[in-house]
Amino acid sequence: MPIGTKKAMFRNTLIIGALLLCMTGFSGASGIEAMSADTSQYGDTFIADQDGYFTKTTSTIAPSVSRKGEIIHIIGAGETISEIAALYGLKSQTILWENDVNPLRIRGGEKLLIPPFDGVGYTVKKGDTVAKIATTYKVPATDILSKNNVTTIKIGEKIYVPNAKPIVNASPRNIAGRSTSVRTPLANNNVGPAVGKILIYPTMGSITQGYKSSHHAIDIANSNKPPIWAAADGTVIKASSGTWAGGYGNHVIIDHGNGVKTLYGHLEYLDVNVGDHVKQGQVIGKMGRTGRVRGVTGIHLHFEVIENGVKKLPSLFW
Ligand SMILES: [Zn+2]
Repeated sequence: MPIGTKKAMFRNTLIIGALLLCMTGFSGASGIEAMSADTSQYGDTFIADQDGYFTKTTSTIAPSVSRKGEIIHIIGAGETISEIAALYGLKSQTILWENDVNPLRIRGGEKLLIPPFDGVGYTVKKGDTVAKIATTYKVPATDILSKNNVTTIKIGEKIYVPNAKPIVNASPRNIAGRSTSVRTPLANNNVGPAVGKILIYPTMGSITQGYKSSHHAIDIANSNKPPIWAAADGTVIKASSGTWAGGYGNHVIIDHGNGVKTLYGHLEYLDVNVGDHVKQGQVIGKMGRTGRVRGVTGIHLHFEVIENGVKKLPSLFW
């Protein structure tokens, strides 16, 4: 919308106010779109006050200040998700869960919906009760009410479930030539990957061997053989199964673009084929012990991050 006259600016203000009314009634995603009529510059922040008006601020918000509403953040040039998260006193994963963005490819000028506290957004459906939502997400019902500053919930209303993780629906895939034995779904479907700066930690388990001159990777072990998650969106460029493969055993390589690739070794089986496009957090296989694994590590994931052909310290990316 062109600006330059007081009249136009006044009109903008009215539109933002009107759109905000829509926002408060519907999900936050539409709120981001609604804000496209604003006249902000990169790095601007809008805060919805208690009366529902957006107030533009140029000052940093103290993370300790409690906020009732969501905030629209306009990404500044060069800003990262972790920097933005720190600005609002939130975990990166909270922002990534709420916004359909690839942390590798965020751009200045894009808008992010900043939840009021760590947790996941949830739109109340018919038949929902606070107790039911609390059970689903394994959080105290009283926390849901107090953090959202409400005494009851209404159908269609968006709330945030404090300190919850998104429900991961990991349905097993059938791939030709691979065993179709029954898989164990993610425990209670309530375990999701922890989201980092660029890459997520690709499975559940502890690091049994770190990155060093003789091992340009990390090993993550877990005798429960958990699912392996794609560390970021990308394309599967290698899906090797049934061979020693130089010690990697069954392994997957994903190309994430921007010169970044990740490798996942020793899998029990793969859930992807070459050419598959995967989303961050998508299950690509199961932890196993194929290839060269030793007693100390046994069942584990060998995880490499390759940037422009160089195997980098994975923790630099989360
Ligand atoms: Zn290793």
